[in-house]
Amino acid sequence: MSHAALTEAIAAVQGYVQYLQRLGVTDLPVTLAPSGRTGTPTPQAPPSAAVAASQGTATPTEPAVRLAQLAVAVRDCRNCRLHAGRTQVVFGTGNPAAALVFVGEAPGHDEDIQGEPFVGQAGQLLTRIIAAIGLTREQVYLLNVIKCRPPHNRNPQPDEVAACRPILQEQLACLQPRVICALGTFAAQTLLQTEEKISRLRGRFHTLGAIQVMPTYHPAFLLRNPQYKRAVWEDMQRIQAVLGLR
Ligand code: URA
Repeated sequence: MSHAALTEAIAAVQGYVQYLQRLGVTDLPVTLAPSGRTGTPTPQAPPSAAVAASQGTATPTEPAVRLAQLAVAVRDCRNCRLHAGRTQVVFGTGNPAAALVFVGEAPGHDEDIQGEPFVGQAGQLLTRIIAAIGLTREQVYLLNVIKCRPPHNRNPQPDEVAACRPILQEQLACLQPRVICALGTFAAQTLLQTEEKISRLRGRFHTLGAIQVMPTYHPAFLLRNPQYKRAVWEDMQRIQAVLGLR
């Protein structure tokens, strides 16, 4: 292999590892080579959840591995028209074992560029809200209903939501949080499959299977309407109480 090709291959591996780190993967499954063979430990494909469970080999890192596999599988998704205008799929970030998951609407300009949810102005406010309940962004998991930026930040359309729903469902199946905080009308209505207004949905827990869902106002809405911060703080305190954080 030429020096240039080797440098390119190393850069690709480094980029991939950084991508996995952003997804919350902190270690990779590694198995020593079978006896009789020499060489370095070889990364192995992780067993499927079903196989691991039947063999009793499930590990605490498994949700992270499944999430990472899903992220890789959808990296080139073209299931709806939004793929044409995106810079990249914004999958999600944080701790795959988090008890608390925040679900937003869709990536905006900053998220589309950086590949991470909630990194713009609204994201900075969300980071402060998370800190106010005694947690960090790294301790929770952040994701959006829609993984690709809609043009001019318009509202996602129903067929785009439908196209993205299997990814959202699989993410939540991997994460299995105790609580989801649904940020804004769009996330709340999509998760709870209702057309009820956010003002009527917020302030109490709803259930999604075994998960408790607390809808609240979206941080971008709070930036425009700071008088609603008190209501969001009350919702956050409800989440704190359920998670035993206060
Ligand atoms: N950034 C996101 O990632 N999601 C939103 O819903 C808004 C801003």
